[in-house]
Amino acid sequence: MAIDLQFTPAQNAFRGEVRAWMAAHVPQTPLATLEGAVGFEQHRAWERRLATGNYGCITWPTEYGGRGANLIEWLIFEEEYYRARAPLRVNQNGIFLFGPTLMEFGTPEQKARFLPKMASGDEIWAQGWSEPQAGSDLAAIRATATRDGDHYVLRGHKIWSSRAAFADWCFAIFRTDPASERHRGLTFILLPLKHEGVRVRGIRQIHGEPGFAEIFFEEARVPVANRLGAEGQGWHIAMATAGFERGLMLRSPARFQAAAQRLLKLYRRHAHEADPAVAAAVAQAWMDAESYALNTYMTASRLMAGGSIGVEASLNKIFWSELDLDLHRAAMSLLGARAELLPAAPASNDADAWLDGFIFSLAGPVYAGTNEIQRNIIAERLLGLPRGG
Ligand SMILES: Cc1cc2nc3c(=O)[nH]c(=O)nc-3n(C[C@H](O)[C@H](O)[C@H](O)COP(=O)(O)OP(=O)(O)OC[C@H]3O[C@@H](n4cnc5c(N)ncnc54)[C@H](O)[C@@H]3O)c2cc1C
Repeated sequence: MAIDLQFTPAQNAFRGEVRAWMAAHVPQTPLATLEGAVGFEQHRAWERRLATGNYGCITWPTEYGGRGANLIEWLIFEEEYYRARAPLRVNQNGIFLFGPTLMEFGTPEQKARFLPKMASGDEIWAQGWSEPQAGSDLAAIRATATRDGDHYVLRGHKIWSSRAAFADWCFAIFRTDPASERHRGLTFILLPLKHEGVRVRGIRQIHGEPGFAEIFFEEARVPVANRLGAEGQGWHIAMATAGFERGLMLRSPARFQAAAQRLLKLYRRHAHEADPAVAAAVAQAWMDAESYALNTYMTASRLMAGGSIGVEASLNKIFWSELDLDLHRAAMSLLGARAELLPAAPASNDADAWLDGFIFSLAGPVYAGTNEIQRNIIAERLLGLPRGG
């Protein structure tokens, strides 16, 4: 089958527009980390600025604050976004995971209420799925939502909720049927985080900032209107969200292609002292980033032709998380002890950004469902192997 890898004149023109907008608007000095209070608000301001250019959620319909772009345009946008080294997206769980879920399962009222404020950066969302005893085994969820008239009363404890320490809203899963087991009897509920009966406690990380939070529900009341889908449909909806998370949107190839370009630059600076094995690792990581991009263009074309993403979302998740590790491990090998230089050190160059990226890449095989779990899914549902014990 012939594959056309050329962009159309309209796509090239769109690229030019995005490039010019980013050149004019990307902050010149990097923002503070989005895992701290100051940086969180700086990143919210950046989301608002993106929205003024109508670049916040480009694939969304215009009525919800998007520009109705197709997936190829989204990939082009992402390439320009990372090329410009624009800030990380503080509302990523909202716009890439929950937004598409809401479009699929929400009522017209819910879509009108939540999507525009998500697109504008006015409401930042956190994901409340994991619990102390329910991580990989998400179906072990114990937090409950008990119906009381036209409200649910929430009780229980969520953990590892990224950016929940500062976020405004949370999409979470609760057990609504106390007699139910496993993935039955779960319900998807949207709740404000600054709300009576909702206690958010930041988890201080190694860099001192509360990038994660625990959320305690102490008889918090939320209207039944905040339920997404039907009672008991939570697992089905959550699996659709997980498909968006692992499959396409959360980690666009541009992120890794941009890192691969920076890695090449780093290599050229240190080539004279680099081990040949490191040179091979740099080349492999660059090739993998390019392969991931080509594969994603293929997936995007397939989706635009009416296809869907299934179990291969798990393959995708393993690929990008391991690619991120490989890129950063190669950089660490090139930098050696220099990786630990503080940003102010004269010889630092980009060392601190590489070290931050390396530490974060270590989490890649864990979040969005661990890679071991993705391998189980691939073994059972793609390869048809018997279930593990
Ligand atoms: C950076 C980051 C951001 C996160 N953000 C969020 C968030 O916003 N919201 C949220 O709800 N959660 C979030 N999480 C939590 C994440 O979803 C969980 O950490 C993950 O699902 C694993 O659960 P666990 O930590 O309880 O580990 P466990 O489930 O206890 O797993 C421990 C180890 O055992 C392995 N294991 C477990 N079961 C099996 C099995 N059946 N077969 C083979 N191996 C197995 C796992 O792969 C893992 O290596 C985040 C995590 C990280 C690291």
